Amino acid sequence: MAVTRERQTRLIVALDFSDRNSAISFLSLYGKDIKWVKLGLELFTKEGPSFVREVAELGYEVFLDLKLHDIPNTVTKTIKSLSSLPIRMLTLHASGGKSMMKGAALAAREYSSNLDLLAVTVLTAIDQDTLTATGIDSSPSEQVIRLSRLAIDSGIQGVVCSPQEITLVREQLGKDALVVTPGIRPTGSSKNDQKRTLTPTQASKMGSDFIVVGRPILGANNPLDAVQKILNEL
Ligand code: C5P
Repeated sequence: MAVTRERQTRLIVALDFSDRNSAISFLSLYGKDIKWVKLGLELFTKEGPSFVREVAELGYEVFLDLKLHDIPNTVTKTIKSLSSLPIRMLTLHASGGKSMMKGAALAAREYSSNLDLLAVTVLTAIDQDTLTATGIDSSPSEQVIRLSRLAIDSGIQGVVCSPQEITLVREQLGKDALVVTPGIRPTGSSKNDQKRTLTPTQASKMGSDFIVVGRPILGANNPLDAVQKILNEL
């Protein structure tokens, strides 16, 4: 079944480890209250599809954050290749354009009944100067709106955006689109390199369906406690 919106905001833990053993030992020690995990390019490149299967077999829902961006044919075929994996959400770059996203959405529907695609709009690391240098004259938030609409019009199920953009994106996309937000910092935790952060409660109130949290959990003295505090907040 595809991911549906729920009344409650759900927590996704970003498994930002450099190898399988560290990730698996983290999950065996602290994973009992975790339902969703995000696997990124670093771990996927190192440990491959078998690691995705291993995590899913442990009972976790997997969000694979590969941020695909290529010609439509390549992205479509990649989604076909990924369809044998037990993943529930997968990212691609909205800036790949409508044909790429339409092809991806069709491929996801054809090859996997269980997979939702999420479009990455403007990365939070991209500021106005960086955007302008790539030839885009709009502000980052205008570009986020433009790309979010393009993604939903292309049949993509949701977007990844910064928590500061939730209200804007939700206004534009309506209530059915999935909104997934990293850049979350529980009260009192370090911001690290994230600049525009919100707390889990704030993100939830603004309409985020999923919050993605990494270092505030992975780097906590007591990760079990950190997870429980966030879940209680939500
Ligand atoms: O450790 P932290 O909570 O900042 O981790 C956030 C996770 O979300 C990381 O895996 C990071 O790569 C990812 N992410 C992000 N900002 C985006 C997209 C993804 O921080 N715009």
